[in-house]
Amino acid sequence: MIRTKNISFSYEEYENTEELNKDDRELVLIARETALNAYAPYSKFRVGAAIRLESGIIVCGANVENAAFPSGICAERSAISNVVSNHHNDKPTVIAIAALTEKGLTDETISPCGNCRQVIAEEESRSGNKIRIILAGRNKIQIIDSISSLLPLQFNKMNLKVNLP
Ligand SMILES: [Zn+2]
Repeated sequence: MIRTKNISFSYEEYENTEELNKDDRELVLIARETALNAYAPYSKFRVGAAIRLESGIIVCGANVENAAFPSGICAERSAISNVVSNHHNDKPTVIAIAALTEKGLTDETISPCGNCRQVIAEEESRSGNKIRIILAGRNKIQIIDSISSLLPLQFNKMNLKVNLP
């Protein structure tokens, strides 16, 4: 017997940073500033990610491209690598993501690629914390409660049946 299941999720949408609370607005502004540090000579598409940790520390990452294209890394994974490497026992609570083209901030939001969704999911699992996701365009800001919404039916450690420390 075929049973059709439905997956849906809700998210918040805002028109600009002025509508956000102070902490979220600060994080978006830092993500935008971090995008200026991206090394993106090939795509000219600069992305910044800023992660607020439970302690209040903010950790950033930008995309770093490479002439050997697969060797590049996205801003989100760059930031999470920084968290794991330098703030191992702190827990991410929220990540803001913004992008710049040669014309400036993107009007629309940009969303994490599949690789980054998988890595954000692993970081939620590692830290035991849900990570709010703020997608920040110039004219639209979307806030999603957890990566589970962007990556439903995800592959994770439960599939491997392992208990990590
Ligand atoms: Zn990515």
